[in-house]
Amino acid sequence: MAIFRGGSATPPQHPFLVRVQFPFETRFFGVMELETLRDLYIHELKDLYSAEQQLIKALPKMKKAAKNRSLAAAFNQHFEQTKRQAKRLEQILKRQDESTRAPKCEGMEGLIKEGDKMAGEDAQDDVRDAGLIASAQRVEHYEIAGYGCARTYAELLGDRQGARLLDTTLREEANTDKKLTKLAKQLINVKARKAPPATDKRQGGMTGAIKRVVAKVTGGNGQG
Ligand code: FE
Ligand code: FE
Repeated sequence: MAIFRGGSATPPQHPFLVRVQFPFETRFFGVMELETLRDLYIHELKDLYSAEQQLIKALPKMKKAAKNRSLAAAFNQHFEQTKRQAKRLEQILKRQDESTRAPKCEGMEGLIKEGDKMAGEDAQDDVRDAGLIASAQRVEHYEIAGYGCARTYAELLGDRQGARLLDTTLREEANTDKKLTKLAKQLINVKARKAPPATDKRQGGMTGAIKRVVAKVTGGNGQG
């Protein structure tokens, strides 16, 4: 029987001790990466950090693609806000003695890809703007889910400052989502619904699909 430090017959249970003392065991004998709630907390914080970093690159492109000035302004404002949100995550991770290095958040990567596609659509301006809002709201909902979980973990682990910072960001994301809904209702979707059909004959792809949906709602035949 193996005798471990302190005369115990069982290996040390503290995850930090396991990792420091037995790095090879960590790598080759399957000690779990996510062993404790704290591990999961750090994992989520890093994932959110990667998501925010990707957004910091994507939002200026979204702003450029938006034709509606209020929408462009909203993207710009959220760009500035997103940089502060990333800083908050840095702050929380630093206090936990953790770096921000992490694998790329694949969920955000996919959402941004969809937004990029929408930005490049051959579409009527207001219709494309409505599509950009839909993409942006998917991003906000994804972030809200992530921040909500992280805040809960922070509370459970007694990281009160972390919980407070995460809650601040969570509220910002929720407000952004609400603002986007308001923009969609007040400015963009209404205009898109009333927009005259484009003159080109192409009815395939996203433009055609949107036109057919719009025609259905407004009672037209969808053959612009
Ligand atoms: Fe964010
Ligand atoms: Fe956001």
